[in-house]
Amino acid sequence: MTNQLAQPESAYETAQSQLRSVAMMLDLDAGVTELLASPKRELTVRFPVRMDDGTTRVFTGYRVQHNEARGPVKGGLRYSPLVNLDEVRALAMWMTWKCAVVNIPYGGAKGGVTVDPRAISEAELERMTRRYAAEISIIIGPEKDIPAPDVGTDGRIMGWFMDTYSMMHGHSVPGVVTGKPVELGGSFGRIEATGRGVAYITAEACKRQRINLRGATVAVQGFGNVGSVTARLLAQSGAKVVAVSDSRGGIYNPNGLDIEDHYARRKEGGLLGDHPNHGVDHDDITNEDLLTLPVDILIPAALEGQITDQIASRVRCKMVVEAANGPTTAAGDTVLAERGIYVVPDILANAGGVVVSYFEWVQDLQSFFWEEKEVNSRLERIMVNAFNEVASMAEQRIVRLRQGAYIVALKRVVDAMKMRGIYP
Ligand code: NAD
Repeated sequence: MTNQLAQPESAYETAQSQLRSVAMMLDLDAGVTELLASPKRELTVRFPVRMDDGTTRVFTGYRVQHNEARGPVKGGLRYSPLVNLDEVRALAMWMTWKCAVVNIPYGGAKGGVTVDPRAISEAELERMTRRYAAEISIIIGPEKDIPAPDVGTDGRIMGWFMDTYSMMHGHSVPGVVTGKPVELGGSFGRIEATGRGVAYITAEACKRQRINLRGATVAVQGFGNVGSVTARLLAQSGAKVVAVSDSRGGIYNPNGLDIEDHYARRKEGGLLGDHPNHGVDHDDITNEDLLTLPVDILIPAALEGQITDQIASRVRCKMVVEAANGPTTAAGDTVLAERGIYVVPDILANAGGVVVSYFEWVQDLQSFFWEEKEVNSRLERIMVNAFNEVASMAEQRIVRLRQGAYIVALKRVVDAMKMRGIYP
C-alpha cells in the first residue's frame, strides 16, 4: 500500500540527492557542488497559439541549461501535461552527466511544453511548436544549445523546429536540432539509437553479471520509441520478452510475447490494447504488476519516479536497466541496493540517443553523411567503452554502478570547470 501522507519524491529531488551523495564521496568543493546542484540558465515562456476554432490558447514552455563547461548544451524537448519547471531542471542535470559519462563534448539542457500533444490537432501542434521554437530561440543555436526529441515529440516536430529557426536566420540551419528526418539532415540510426544503446548496455551488463542473455526473461515498461526498440533488439538477441506496457497498461505471457508483431503494429500507430489478438495469447496486467514480475531483467522505459521504495521492495528481477530518465527514486534506489539488485543507471543505459544526436550534429556541421552501419558500430564502441569504464570505476571504489557513473561524469565536468576557471 502506498503511504497517502508521504509526498512523492520529485525528479529534481532525486537528481539533486544523487549529485550530493557522490559529491560527498569525492569530497567536492562546496561551491562547485552548489553550482552543479542547480541549472545555469532557465527560461520560462508563455505564448499564445491560435486554435482551429478561432480561440487563443496560452501555453507554458521551458528551456533549462544546466552546465556548459564541456561544450554547447544538449537535451530533448518533452510535450506532456506533466511537464513542469522542476522536471525540466532534473532532466537538464541528468543530460550533463549523461554526455560526460559517454564523453561527448556537450553540457546538459532540457525543454518542454505543458501540453498533451494528442489532445490538439496536427495544425495546432505545428503552430504551437513553431511559436515555442521562436520563443526559446534567444538561447538556442547549433553552437549554443541543440534540442532533440523526447517524450511526446518526434522527427516531424524537430523538422518544424528546424524550419522555424532557419526562417528566423535567413538560411537553413540543420545543426540547430537533432532527431530530424533523414531528408532534413537527420542521421541514419537516430530513431533507434536510444533503444539500441540500451540493448548494447544490457548485453554488457549480462556478461558482467553472468546472466545468459539468450533465454533471459525481460519485462519492459513503456512501449514507445525507446521501449519498443529495446524490446525488439533484445528479442532478436534471443532474450524472452515476457511483458511490455504502455500508458493504458501491459500484456504478459510467461512464454514470451511476439515482439516483432507488436513492434510492427506500433509503427502503424496501434496501441498494445488494440491488438486483434488482445487477451488471447497474453494476460492483461497493470504497470505496477509489470514492475514486480519475476524476470531476469526489468527495463523501465516510460517515465520518471516509477520504482519507488514500495515498488523496489517488491521487485523480483536480478537486474534493472534504466532506459527511461530517472525511473527509480532515490529511496527506491536505496531499497534495490539493500536487496542486492544490480542497477544500470539511466545516465549510462539510455545515452545512445544523445550519442547518435552528437553524430547527427557532427554530420550536419560537415554536410557529410555516414551510412547506418558506421553510425551503429561507432555507437556500440562508445557504449561498450562507457559501460566498462563505469563498471571498473564502481569496482575500484567499491560502489554501485550509479555512483561509478556519477564519479566518471562528475570528474570530467569538474575538471573542465577547473581548467576554464572563473570568469572574469
Ligand atoms: P515515447 O513517448 O515514445 O514513449 C513513452 C512510452 O511510455 C509510451 O509507450 C507511453 O504509452 C508509455 N507511458 C506513458 N506513461 C506511462 C505510465 N504511467 N506507465 C507506463 N507506461 C507509460 O517516449 P520515449 O522517447 O520512448 O521516452 C521514454 C523514456 O526514455 C523517457 O524517460 C525519456 O526521457 C527517455 N529517453 C528517451 C530518449 C529518446 O531518444 N527518445 C533518449 C534518452 C532517454
